[in-house]
Parts: sequence; C-alpha cells; structure tokens
Amino acid sequence: MALTDVVTGEKERWTNQWLELKAEVIDTGLCTGCAGCVVACPHDVIGYEHASGAYKPFHLEEELGPDNCIHGEKGCTSCTRACPRFRSWEPEADEHLFARYRKDDELSGIYQDILLTKASDETVHKMGQDGGLVSAMLLWLLEEGYIDGALVSFLDGDKGDWKAKPGVATNKDEVLAAAGSRYTYSANTLAIDEAVERGLANLALVGMSCMTSIPAVMWHRKIGKISKPIKFVLGLLCSKTFDDAIFEELFEAKYRLPKSEIVKMNIKGVFQIWMRDGSYHEVNLKECHAWTREGCTHCPDFAAEHADVSTGGIGKENDWTLTIVRTELGREVISRMITAGVIEARPGDEDPGAIALMHKLAEKSRKRWPEFAVDFPKAKREVTFASEA
Ligand SMILES: Cc1cc2nc3c(=O)[nH]c(=O)nc-3n(C[C@H](O)[C@H](O)[C@H](O)COP(=O)(O)OP(=O)(O)OC[C@H]3O[C@@H](n4cnc5c(N)ncnc54)[C@H](O)[C@@H]3O)c2cc1C
Ligand code: SF4
Ligand code: SF4
Repeated sequence: MALTDVVTGEKERWTNQWLELKAEVIDTGLCTGCAGCVVACPHDVIGYEHASGAYKPFHLEEELGPDNCIHGEKGCTSCTRACPRFRSWEPEADEHLFARYRKDDELSGIYQDILLTKASDETVHKMGQDGGLVSAMLLWLLEEGYIDGALVSFLDGDKGDWKAKPGVATNKDEVLAAAGSRYTYSANTLAIDEAVERGLANLALVGMSCMTSIPAVMWHRKIGKISKPIKFVLGLLCSKTFDDAIFEELFEAKYRLPKSEIVKMNIKGVFQIWMRDGSYHEVNLKECHAWTREGCTHCPDFAAEHADVSTGGIGKENDWTLTIVRTELGREVISRMITAGVIEARPGDEDPGAIALMHKLAEKSRKRWPEFAVDFPKAKREVTFASEA
C-alpha cells in the first residue's frame, strides 16, 4: 500500500451521508463496528447491536429505506465524518496527530519510542493481560487528573459469561475489573454517552486499532466536538477479533471447553486457553479463522497507529507490555509514570524480535485493505466541511 498521493484540484464540499457510508463502508465489508458513526449521529437514527453476528450499524428510520437518510438528504454528514474507514481516513488522522503522512517504510505507523513496560504494583501487574501497562496508565491518569473516566471493556455478568461490554471506569476497582483481554469485539466508544451523562468531561479511550482512529478522524473532519471529551487514546495491537459464537461452536463443541470454565485467554501464535481446573489448552489460529468478524478481514491497522500509546503482548516475555509511544502527550505520560515509579520500563531494543514481529504483522495487515475502497490509498481529495454539526 503506497502513501496516498494528494490529488489537488477543485475543492469539493463534503456532502457524504449515510447513503455513501452504507454503500462504501458497510455493504462492502470495510466496517469494523467501531461505532464512531453511532455516537456521532446527532439525530440518533443509527442503531447498533452489541451482539453475536451483529456489531454493525444500521439505520433506524424507514422513510427512505435502510440505505438512505432523510437527515442526510437535508445536509447532515456527521456519520461519514466520524468513520475511520471512510475514504482517506488514514492520511487524515496522520495529519491531525503528527502533522505529516506516514512514510511507506513506517509499517507500524508513526511513533517516537518503543518500550517494554510493566506495572510496579503487583496486583495491577497480575490482573493485566501482559504487563498491566494499560490499567496502570488509566489509574495514574485518573490520579493525576488527566482524566475523570475511561471507556473500557467489562465482562457482562459473572466472569464465566465472557461477553464483552463497553463501560466507564472511574476508580481503581472498575479499572481492575476491566483489565485483561477479551478476543471478541467491544465497541468501547459506545460508552461515551454514559460518560457524558455522568458529567465526565475528560476521558481515556481504550480500544482496538480501529477505534483509536476515531477521535483524530473526527477532529480532521471538523466534528471534533463529539470526541472532545476523549483526552487520551490507548490502543491495543490487533490482527482480528472473533464473533462470540466461537465459544460454543468451536471451543465447546470441538474441544469441550465450556466458556463458564475458562479463566483466561491469550493469543500468542495460537489461541491459549486456561481453565478453572488448572488445565491449559491451545487452539490453532487457522481453525479459529472461520469466526473472524468480517470487518477485521479488511482491516489494515495492526499497531493502533492513531493512539497516543499503543500496547501489545508480542515478545519473548509474557509479563511485559510492548509499548509504542506515538504522540507528545503519550511521551509526557510515560515519562512521568516512569519517574513516579508507577511502571518499570526497559528499551524495546532489548527484544528486537518483538519489534520485528510487530512490523511484520503490520505489513501483513496493510495488505488486507482492498483495492475497491474509494480514494485511500489512491487519492486524497481536497474537501471543505460545513461548520461543526
Ligand atoms: C481483541 C484483542 C486482540 C489483540 N491482539 C493482539 C495481537 O495480535 N498482538 C498483540 O501483541 N497484542 C494484542 N492485543 C493486545 C494485548 O492483548 C493487550 O491488551 C495489551 O498488550 C495490553 O496489555 P496490558 O496488560 O497492558 O493491559 P491491561 O492492563 O490488561 O488492560 C487491557 C485493557 O483492554 C481493554 N479490553 C480488553 N478486551 C477488550 C476488547 N475486546 N475490546 C476493547 N477493549 C478491551 C480492557 O478494558 C482494559 O482496559 C489484543 C487485545 C485484544 C483485546
Ligand atoms: S467503521 Fe465504524 S464509523 Fe464506520 S460505518 Fe462502521 S461502525 Fe460506523
Ligand atoms: S482487526 Fe482489530 S483493529 Fe482491525 S477491525 Fe478487527 S477489531 Fe478492529
């Protein structure tokens, strides 16, 4: 995928609405289910089911049928302006965050440092998926007043259910209740409404790569007002998520691993599963592929390239978080956390294999972005936006 060539010429006005979003992103399978359009819609006419087989937006009003929107016909363009898979989303987000486009050899996006980190607090470290960096960072951001809440993923009901549920964490108990990884989708963006209703004004968004591009895209397309409460973006490296049905249809049906007995999961070349009875199981990732969500199969972003800090679990040591520091704000937060002794940090160069693997997986993901996608990476139109919705 080459760097976008900017096509200059007549500036066109951005008139794209649900009609274009559905045709170009949802019907073509590019939609990741990030819910950016859902939270951006000022008329609340975009529905979304956070459930197995769904995780996709749909239009609630029927006046013009499912493909068109009466508000869009009257000039509303918020949904396409929020979508991090619509047209030239990647160069636009790069421009907003880094004031330049990524170079072709910046396979994992633009960044400043790569570190290996882990939470100094034993409980946080233990409850984290890898080094517990994400949870430690949320706790520190809350304590230091950078944020008053975080959009995270909880487990619905008791842990045995393994149903990911977006929610808001405002204290240590809630941050730790959300720690760890679920490999089904959780559109944490959706929790922004609850956060705003609760009067929270400064938020961190934790999310998969696809979600982390939303705020920057919104700012670039002049609907930054919607993402304004999001002051910090923490990305999770990601090559795919699975539909919830994988629990019953593969793990339980074939391997006799009921989800109520699963206590931890991880993906390290294979799908690793730990059971309540102490047993450990591995499932070949190729076998899991049939349950990959559609949007993930076209997703070009492995390394959460538009987060302030991106995090992953690849590397030779399981209990450290591979930490990619991208923005100035990300660097400030990490430096202050190290100085405060809240996290331990080592240079990423101590595990060159992890960095090489990240670039390799990023390169692989980039090849998934299809030729049929409109504009990016072939062109970037010059557009003008009406004032904020
Ligand atoms: C679906 C998925 C796929 C991933 N794939 C890879 C990969 O291929 N390679 C790699 O190196 N790393 C991958 N990761 C990232 C890795 O698993 C860890 O999340 C990351 O290293 C941070 O670890 P930590 O101990 O610092 O985070 P923790 O302190 O454990 O915090 C993790 C945070 O992630 C949030 N979270 C958990 N599950 C989800 C979810 N499904 N959706 C949204 N938010 C969630 C939690 O709410 C929590 O705030 C993936 C993560 C997920 C969720
Ligand atoms: S990718 Fe996100 S913003 Fe775009 S259509 Fe899908 S859910 Fe909406
Ligand atoms: S692979 Fe990950 S980042 Fe990409 S669309 Fe799927 S969940 Fe989102």
